[in-house]
Amino acid sequence: MDIPSHQKVIVIGSGPAGYTSAIYLSRANLKPLVIEGYMSGGQLMWTTEVENFPGFPEGVMGPDLMQNMRKQAEKFGATFLTVDATKVDLQANPKVIETPKGTFTADSVVLSTGATARMLGLESEKRLLGHGVATCATCDGAFYKEKEIAVVGGGDSALEEATFLTRFASKVYVLHRRDTLKASDAMQDRARANPKIEFIWNVEVAEFVGEKKLEKVILRDTQTGEMRDLAIAGCFIAIGHIPNTTMFQGQLELDSLGYLHTEGKSSKTTIPGVFACGDVQDHVYRQAITAAGSGCVAALDAERYLDHHG
Ligand code: NDP
Repeated sequence: MDIPSHQKVIVIGSGPAGYTSAIYLSRANLKPLVIEGYMSGGQLMWTTEVENFPGFPEGVMGPDLMQNMRKQAEKFGATFLTVDATKVDLQANPKVIETPKGTFTADSVVLSTGATARMLGLESEKRLLGHGVATCATCDGAFYKEKEIAVVGGGDSALEEATFLTRFASKVYVLHRRDTLKASDAMQDRARANPKIEFIWNVEVAEFVGEKKLEKVILRDTQTGEMRDLAIAGCFIAIGHIPNTTMFQGQLELDSLGYLHTEGKSSKTTIPGVFACGDVQDHVYRQAITAAGSGCVAALDAERYLDHHG
């Protein structure tokens, strides 16, 4: 397929934000090129069932939802390149995007490169991701009704997730590698006062164990090296996220946590014609539906920008 090297608008990244943006841009007849990345589809590709995406009362598999969004954009004229953008010059006019399949220019760019959940890095963690090992309590908490589960981490995310998970689980262990928490005092007070939460201090997960789904974790005491088993049905990794912004550093303003700064309720970045949506600019809500919503905002912003800049 011959893709014109100059485009009105290029979407870099996929996931619910990028695909929704592509649906709106293509319906506006802007024929977007989506450089969707080798790992196209974003974090939902690593989940199983999504129960909280509106419109799917029976739930929907994360990868199916992404595939359908992609198809919807394709139907209206979006083109996809399943490679990573390797370098961008967003200050140039037109903006320049390099990929292994060639260099493209665009009048406007939508960035939806997402964020990556920081993981512990164990092989067993990768194998059981989506089968007991999870990274989003809001997404997967409801699968653990009356089960004993754990959260790894000692920051605000870990305690917020642990507290939220007590709505479903019969018990939530917080597994932290030290004996003091990084989380804010308010979050700590709330978690400590919750009778369903039990802290296990000075431990790290040495192994996730289970054939098809998680059955237990093996914990290593970070002070003595001693090992012990903990039987749990689910383990939520909440040790932070890394926004995928490396390519934009030095070009766009980032917030104090490294996420792309967007102006007010818009998707405008610090460069005119460059818009950002989804988890790359949102470390607070991080939901498929909020990402999709922000993808729509970015498409409308890009459309208006192109209207005004010919
Ligand atoms: P943080 O970076 O604040 O905390 C990460 C936690 O994970 C730390 O306790 C850290 O341990 C632990 N950790 C990191 N790497 C590992 C590892 N390899 N193995 C085991 N443990 C590890 O990330 P959060 O996601 O919690 O928060 C990010 C930002 O978002 C913060 O600014 C936070 O305040 C904010 N936030 C605010 C919320 C709110 O106000 N409602 C909710 C959620 C987040 P250690 O302590 O030893 O470094």
